[in-house]
Amino acid sequence: MDIRTGFGYDIHRLVEGEYLLLGRIRIPATRMIDAHSDGDIVLHAVSQALYSAIGESDIGTHYPDIMEETRNMDSTLLLRDALHRVEEQGFRLSNLVVTILLQEPKLQENKDRIKSSLSHLLGLPEERIAVHANTSERLNAVGEGKAIECYSLVTLIKEN
Ligand code: MG
Repeated sequence: MDIRTGFGYDIHRLVEGEYLLLGRIRIPATRMIDAHSDGDIVLHAVSQALYSAIGESDIGTHYPDIMEETRNMDSTLLLRDALHRVEEQGFRLSNLVVTILLQEPKLQENKDRIKSSLSHLLGLPEERIAVHANTSERLNAVGEGKAIECYSLVTLIKEN
């Protein structure tokens, strides 16, 4: 059996806005994610983790910010591409961990919605997904409400 681990990370600036897009779920907020694409930081971190698990280069290499084609791009396309490359190499996703760092709003009530959305997008049962959220205790850019960060870990399995 071939087992791989992948890690993904992303950070985005927050600007004035009405909602945050996290794992395709729109969460009412007073800030929004500033990005060249649709800014779905959760999908970016998960895609990055998938790419890393199979030794692929990072999202920026696949989808440069300067490309006109990626302006306002739906990040599910990115996720599908990453998943497709994983499956092409004979791996299946075994489990997924996502940790979101955000000062406000609190994500407690929305974590299950994000998990269910990720389960749907990835075809992965919910019991194999963890979505955690933390504030940054009002420290650093995240804590000051200027940024949002997301970390992700994946495990892939190939049966021989
Ligand atoms: Mg990003």
